[in-house]
Amino acid sequence: MTSIAERYQHVRSQIRHAIGIAGRPKGCVQLLAVSKTKPAEDIAALYRLGQRHFAENYLQEARSKQQKLAAFNITWHFIGPIQSNKTSAIAHYFDWVHSVDRLKIAQRLSEQRPAHLPPLNVCLQVNISGEASKSGVTLTELPDLAQAIALLPNLVLRGVMAIPAPEDNYARQRQPYRALYQALQALEGLSLDTYSFGMSGDLKAAVMEGSTLVRVGTALFGERHPLGDP
Ligand SMILES: *Cc1c(COP(=O)(O)O)cnc(C)c1O
Repeated sequence: MTSIAERYQHVRSQIRHAIGIAGRPKGCVQLLAVSKTKPAEDIAALYRLGQRHFAENYLQEARSKQQKLAAFNITWHFIGPIQSNKTSAIAHYFDWVHSVDRLKIAQRLSEQRPAHLPPLNVCLQVNISGEASKSGVTLTELPDLAQAIALLPNLVLRGVMAIPAPEDNYARQRQPYRALYQALQALEGLSLDTYSFGMSGDLKAAVMEGSTLVRVGTALFGERHPLGDP
C-alpha cells in the first residue's frame, strides 16, 4: 500500500520535474486535489500535509464533506457538470468553478453569489475533443461567451478548463492542449491567468503545454470505486 503522503510527494515531484523540463518558472503550476468519491478523512490527511485546494464533482457529496471539514481552511473548487437548480449552492459554498459552459449558468452564479463573499472565480470548460466530449464550449463559441461572462459583477473570469479524450500517447496528449493554448493567445482583451489542464494520466503533457493548474485525483487518493461497483 502506498500512503497518501508518498503519493503526495510523488505527484508534487512529477509537477516540479515537468516544470523543469518545460523550462517554466518554479511554482507556476498549482496542484488541485480531486477528492470525488473519497472520504473526508482522506481530504483531512492531505490537508495535514499542506494541501489547501480541493475539488469535487457532485454537489451533495461535496456539501457533506464541507460540513465535516468546516474547521479546515480549504479552498473549494467545483469541477462537475452544473444543473440550473444547483447554481445557488455552488455560488454559496465554493471559491472556484471550472465547468461553466453556458451564459445562463454564469448569470445565475453571479446573481446568487452572496454579497459578503468575494467574486466567484470561474473557468470556462472548453471542448477540445469534438464529439468525444459532451460538455464544454467550442473554440468558436468561446470568445463571445468569455466577453459576456467577463461583464458579470460577481464572477471573475480566470481562465479555461479542458478535458481531452483519454489518450496514452504522450505526443498525442500534448496536441489538444497546445491547440487550445495557441487559440487563447489570439483572443484579445481577456486577461486569463488560469489554464486548468491535466489530470493524473496526462499531467506532464499538460504542464509542457502551459497548464497553470492540474486537477489530480487517482494519483493522490488511489483508484476510485464508484458506488455499485463490486
Ligand atoms: C475526476 C476528475 C479529475 C481527476 O481525474 P484523475 O484521472 O483521477 O486524476 C480531473 N478533472 C475532472 C473534471 C474530473 O472529473
